[in-house]
Amino acid sequence: MDRELYDKKVKCPICKNEFTTKKVKSSALRIDKRDTDLYVHYKTVNPYFYSVWVCSKCGYAALESKFNSIKKYHHSLIKENITSIWNPKDYGNKRNVIEAIQTHKLAIHEGNILNWENSYIGGLALRLSWLYKLKGEKELEIKFQKYALTIFADCFSKETFPMAGIDSATMSYLIGELNRKFQNYEESLKWFQAALKDPNIKRKRLLENMVRNQWSTAIEEHKKFKQLNSEDEKCGEESDNESNNIEENEKKQEERTEIEQNSDGNRGRKVRKKFFFRGAL
Ligand SMILES: [Zn+2]
Repeated sequence: MDRELYDKKVKCPICKNEFTTKKVKSSALRIDKRDTDLYVHYKTVNPYFYSVWVCSKCGYAALESKFNSIKKYHHSLIKENITSIWNPKDYGNKRNVIEAIQTHKLAIHEGNILNWENSYIGGLALRLSWLYKLKGEKELEIKFQKYALTIFADCFSKETFPMAGIDSATMSYLIGELNRKFQNYEESLKWFQAALKDPNIKRKRLLENMVRNQWSTAIEEHKKFKQLNSEDEKCGEESDNESNNIEENEKKQEERTEIEQNSDGNRGRKVRKKFFFRGAL
């Protein structure tokens, strides 16, 4: 596996420290399959593990594509908020999924400190959700996918494309697909429709097929979802009727018991019956 990686020398734009970070040889990348949320499974080493560069000396962390774009007047933000509390740590070796998660969280945190564009943070959040998926942490996977979805939907009309490295048609599809996953079906169909109307899609057959497939899936799921909901409502009504009946029976029973109580003064019997009906509910 090590042969798939090589060392890239990097100079930190803030503290001028020179460090090495691993990169995956593009010749070593072998795609296994793609998930509907655009996550790509690789047969070989996972390039997502190495996409965030971290300066071991000052703690500055950013995606490779963004690493050198930090403005000089922003250096102090990293020095004050990160370097002052940074325990030197070298992420320059082969990374495991935990280290990949740490680097992404660091990059999100610093991106927020630097007030970098929202789509950059959204892209990192989406990658972080994929890393949690790899680690088998479902709740955190969902949490960061929802975070990415909120950001992407919000900045779709505010930022320019490509956004987080994604063109407008693919982004419409992604927002639609994430909405489908979270059962926001109407919203999902709206975004799938936007993807199909996007002129960029004409050059992307694979994407067009994905949109059509997921559109059908969303429609099917929406139908089932509505059916289940109406059954639940029916059940609710039935159980309301049932509980009304039970309450009525209980009332009658109480009246009867009152009479019994009046006749023989047996109060304990009345209490027992009341509890029986409560338990049955
Ligand atoms: Zn540095």
